[in-house]
Amino acid sequence: MDLGIKGRRALVTASSKGLGRGCAEALAEAGVDLVLNARGAEALEATAADIRAAHGVEVTAVAADITTEDGRARVLEAAGAVDILVTNAGGPPPGMWSDWGRSDFIAALDANMLAPIALMTALLPGMIERGWGRVVNITSQSVKAPIPQLGLSNAARTGLTGYVAGTSRQVAPHGVTINNLLPGIHDTDRATSLDQGVSQREGVDMATARARREATIPTRRYGTPEEFGAACAFICSQHAGFMVGQNVLLDGGATNATI
Ligand code: NAP
Repeated sequence: MDLGIKGRRALVTASSKGLGRGCAEALAEAGVDLVLNARGAEALEATAADIRAAHGVEVTAVAADITTEDGRARVLEAAGAVDILVTNAGGPPPGMWSDWGRSDFIAALDANMLAPIALMTALLPGMIERGWGRVVNITSQSVKAPIPQLGLSNAARTGLTGYVAGTSRQVAPHGVTINNLLPGIHDTDRATSLDQGVSQREGVDMATARARREATIPTRRYGTPEEFGAACAFICSQHAGFMVGQNVLLDGGATNATI
């Protein structure tokens, strides 16, 4: 399918690896020029080079922490006018409700609620002025159904979801859509580190930890960054202009809910 976005320009934050990279690759395949970001310059430059070579699109890489004001300022300056924004950042650490104080919540809110909101605040006016724009926020399955040990994530991402619910209706008259993509477990470094936690806690090897998790998913496997990226690119496409304020779950059926 021609996504109708060839020649558009996208900013994908936290995109040297994993789900962010999956989104960047799928947008590049559709002919979209990219601004990529991550903290580590080496992996970021390598990803940018791979994408340039594979898809022949223009790729700008900015090594910066997207959760800080200074980092965002540098990314936004390099990005300039973008048509598509995909927001992403690392997820908060797991733990118990009794572990977390104000500073832990502030860090989670900065990364998973206030950073995407700041990026939207900066980039929505240009999209509105040009009469076309797409925003996809990578959130989590934990927005639909809480993951108890990820209380910081449950809290921060639900705040972002509430913001998007209202704001998406305010910008839709201008040809700009905002939607959220909710990953369940996907095969990335983050999944490996979650499996390591299970392996250590339960005294089993990594293969057993993964097999146990896979057994709880109707697809009996983890999702891939490629599948995730393809869904993201479709939501960013010309064809998805009537999709507004939605929370699209990609979890292999793991969330047991009718709607
Ligand atoms: P990942 O494989 O660990 O990749 C994270 C990417 O984000 C890397 O490129 C990393 O590069 C970059 N990054 C992290 N913190 C950053 C920051 N502060 N500023 C800029 N870049 C940053 O993680 P993932 O699995 O793709 O997960 C992406 C998001 O989806 C996370 O918020 C995660 O919690 C959420 N999620 C993932 C899953 C899953 O199963 N994978 C499920 C539900 C939700 P640097 O480290 O070099 O900065």
